[in-house]
Amino acid sequence: MDFNIIRESIPLEIAAKHYGVETKKGMCHCLFHNDKTPSMKLYKDNYYCFGCGAHGDVIDFTSRLFGLGIYDAASKLVTDFRLKIPIERTFKEAERKEKMDKVREALSEEKIRRAFSISQNEIRKKLVDLKVKMDEWKYGLKPKNMDVPPEEWDERFVAAHVYGDYLDELIDIIDFGENYEVFELWEYRKEVDDFVERIRRIEQTADGNNQTGTSSGRVCEGAT
Ligand SMILES: [Zn+2]
Repeated sequence: MDFNIIRESIPLEIAAKHYGVETKKGMCHCLFHNDKTPSMKLYKDNYYCFGCGAHGDVIDFTSRLFGLGIYDAASKLVTDFRLKIPIERTFKEAERKEKMDKVREALSEEKIRRAFSISQNEIRKKLVDLKVKMDEWKYGLKPKNMDVPPEEWDERFVAAHVYGDYLDELIDIIDFGENYEVFELWEYRKEVDDFVERIRRIEQTADGNNQTGTSSGRVCEGAT
């Protein structure tokens, strides 16, 4: 019989209560000396008498209370608290179950983390592609003559200036941001998509305008 398992499974205060020992604020009359005021303190796993210094565990306590030897006291506790025998096996099973639960938990966390990092990479790729494009617009589509009124500037050039910094900020968050910032960005990924879509529409409009220009040019060429 493993005494430690009994000690760990049966809290002393519960055993005392079960055996009808009167307690007040966790104190009872000492079992070892003629105690007029309760001077024995009952803790979860041991007792201590402030009067005579007696101390011990739940098995010692039961042994003294019923005048039993240590082994008999331990057997009594096993019977009274219906601890299954062999106790050791029950304990190991509980331990194994706890371990399995932890593995299961770790797995689902791992899954969430992976899903998050895939989605984060997708967002990053979208933004970086856009950034490359916008850098081209920023420098390649700069009006040759800045005296041209702004309403005649290429829309893509304007967009690159208006949204460029915002885009840099978003990429910075993914690369260097605190966890909560990245998570926030991930939560607002729909808005990031809308942003990317808005730029794409600006690009399409500009392309459309250019193509119209080119094709009409061809028509003119053909006509001459
Ligand atoms: Zn005492």
